[in-house]
Amino acid sequence: MRIIPISLPTPFYIGPVNVYLIAEDPITLIDTGPKTKEANDALHEGLRKARVRISDIRRIVLTHAHEDHCGLARSVRDQAKDAEVLVHAWETGHRIGRLEYEEHRTLLVRAGVPPEEIETMRRMYDGVRQYADSFERDEYGELRDEEELEFETGTLRIVHTPGHTPGSCSFVREADRTVIAGDCVLKRITPNPILSPDPIDPTKRFASLAEYLVSLARLRTFAPTLVHGGHGEPVHDFEELFNRYFRAIRDRQAEVIRLLPKSGASAWEIARQMFPVTDDVHRFLSVSEAVAHLDLAHSEGKIEVEFGDGKEVYRPKMG
Ligand SMILES: [Zn+2]
Ligand SMILES: [Zn+2]
Repeated sequence: MRIIPISLPTPFYIGPVNVYLIAEDPITLIDTGPKTKEANDALHEGLRKARVRISDIRRIVLTHAHEDHCGLARSVRDQAKDAEVLVHAWETGHRIGRLEYEEHRTLLVRAGVPPEEIETMRRMYDGVRQYADSFERDEYGELRDEEELEFETGTLRIVHTPGHTPGSCSFVREADRTVIAGDCVLKRITPNPILSPDPIDPTKRFASLAEYLVSLARLRTFAPTLVHGGHGEPVHDFEELFNRYFRAIRDRQAEVIRLLPKSGASAWEIARQMFPVTDDVHRFLSVSEAVAHLDLAHSEGKIEVEFGDGKEVYRPKMG
């Protein structure tokens, strides 16, 4: 069972995205790239090199529903004449390829983001949305944790690895401990748990960083020898990466706690201190990061949080 990486261009800051072809029955594409002509052309070229016709694809599996990964899913499905599309049910917080603006807005208000900034972020969402087609609920099947994707000569185990998004999944070939991890594991970028509504109760925030730490630990139990990420080169030394990520997360948490004034601050204020110079796209990511670290520090009993005046105010723990 050969896993063939195909790199596709994206219009996003992060650069090219990796999708993975498994050219064996049933021919399966893991992630599809964004909905752009350039990505579509590059995908066709990659398939041609692998001697696979797009019409031969039977199964489209999505690691998560960010536009750079799922944008072409509908188009590929149509060109493949009704390949099955699979995604984790918790990814519906993003309604597969569509950020749920109202749910996000509530979370941003609670994080203390000013209205004009929220408006800028909304325009950004609208801009990003064009890079993916959305699916209706009856158009895709569910990826379930611990189930297996079967192929002619092997299987991939589905491992739910929430954190980057609530429904992020990884795929493990246990025979040689190879993992396809989407944006859960990226060689050169520290992971970014994105501010998301809780898939079970969308009025709440998903505990993205706490979940992410559990996911990383879970992947570690497979002792991966090779991890294919959603962007950049594969990771050969998972143990080094695991320790580096943990250190980065602990360092960032210490910084966040240090930045908290006695009088308290919102996640937005902390984000502005952590990343004073950021453009629009990165302001959303910087709020995501601040919230993720504040939430984790709070759940670990290291800081206090109080809800008042429509937003959450974090304070250092007294005494
Ligand atoms: Zn992503
Ligand atoms: Zn990505």
